Amino acid sequence: MPFQKIVPPAAGEKITVKDGKLHIPDQPIIAFIEGDGIGYDIMTASKRIWDAAVEKAYGGQRKIHWMEIYAGEKAARIYDGDYMPEETFEALRQYHIGIKGPLTTPVGGGFRSLNVTLRQVLDLYACVRPVRWYRGVPSPLREPEKTNVVIFRENTEDVYAGIEFESGTPENEKLAAFLRREFGAQFFEGAGLGIKPISAFASKRLVRQAIRYALERGRKSVTLVHKGNIQKYTEGAFRKWGYEVAAEEFGEVTITEDELWEKYNGKQPDGKIVIKDRIADIIFQHLLLRPDEFDVIATMNLNGDYLSDAAAAHVGGVGIAPGANIGDEVAVFEATHGTAPKYTNLNKVNPGSLLFSGVMMLEYMNWWEAAELINRAYEKTIEQKIVTYDFARQMEGATEVGTSEFASAVIANMG
Ligand code: NAP
Repeated sequence: MPFQKIVPPAAGEKITVKDGKLHIPDQPIIAFIEGDGIGYDIMTASKRIWDAAVEKAYGGQRKIHWMEIYAGEKAARIYDGDYMPEETFEALRQYHIGIKGPLTTPVGGGFRSLNVTLRQVLDLYACVRPVRWYRGVPSPLREPEKTNVVIFRENTEDVYAGIEFESGTPENEKLAAFLRREFGAQFFEGAGLGIKPISAFASKRLVRQAIRYALERGRKSVTLVHKGNIQKYTEGAFRKWGYEVAAEEFGEVTITEDELWEKYNGKQPDGKIVIKDRIADIIFQHLLLRPDEFDVIATMNLNGDYLSDAAAAHVGGVGIAPGANIGDEVAVFEATHGTAPKYTNLNKVNPGSLLFSGVMMLEYMNWWEAAELINRAYEKTIEQKIVTYDFARQMEGATEVGTSEFASAVIANMG
């Protein structure tokens, strides 16, 4: 069925998936959601940079054909108040890769976060956040170059993913009465309640994706982060299932940290990834003090939420932290910050978060040359101290420019 409002570009081909493998044509159609607030500014600037890098890297043989799809306030304007039209999901199912700016979650009125809806409806079960430092970016660390981790955060379960019962509601009272009567549970009268489901299915598919990523990218370890010492049957089970999937499906190419010491005297053998685990509280300290011990991290929803923002702060903050939500057949790359409404259309903010989400997207497509061109040009621009306001306030002698001028400087530095 043709779309109602989405207009596919005249040229370009669909990306396809066969036997779980993506096939990317040289001229793929890629869907984008502009985003609310600062979305227009950062999407316009980033698209210019991505297109310039692809053109430069492949001399016109490869090119992205953009297809705008809608969510958030722009969708509400176009689709008569519908913030998340069904055909947006359909377009992402059909075209497989999308990239989005930030979206406002309307306050009140029973709206659930549009971002959460997108992840759940399309079963984008892994939130992937690479955290690495770019030369010249202001950082509170003495050796920020030692931080280079990729966090895989489970997106579909855990209490944060949605099962809560508000104090004083009949549902809460019913559940409280049941827990007290059947299980002798003790908690204060009127407590809000949350249920935290963690399943073998969801844990294993997340860890599977993290291990595959580590293998494909030549990473050295996958660390399972959990609070299993306290929450044994949820977080502890995640740890157990994580080790299980590694042993059962990747036994030839993985070893545990215990094996590393017992069999290999602490020297990692070539071609084997180490699977280890850390408790969720201590990981914050380790990531800060000994970041080079971590490579790929896999964890549940809430831990991953805290950890990915904290880690981003080590290397420049959420203003430049990229992210993606990846399922088996659809991947949506996204800016990780919000819509920063006070800066709407001021041509002021840093496009870095969306820009690097696009770099992740190019890597996901195996368009490494274009991705690397952007990385190098970005570093060069920052080294020239040409930056947006957020970095300018942390750097001495910086030249502050707008979003669009920053994009022009990055493009000029691709030469
Ligand atoms: P926010 O939009 O992320 O903005 C908070 C602050 O972060 C801004 O005031 C600004 O700091 C800084 N910032 C954000 N993006 C920046 C950029 N590109 N460059 C430089 N600085 C940047 O968070 P919020 O104000 O809490 O949320 C606003 C709306 O965004 C809400 O409707 C929320 O629901 C939504 N949201 C959406 C997403 C998403 O779509 N993924 C994520 C989070 C929030 P300074 O004031 O210091 O300049």
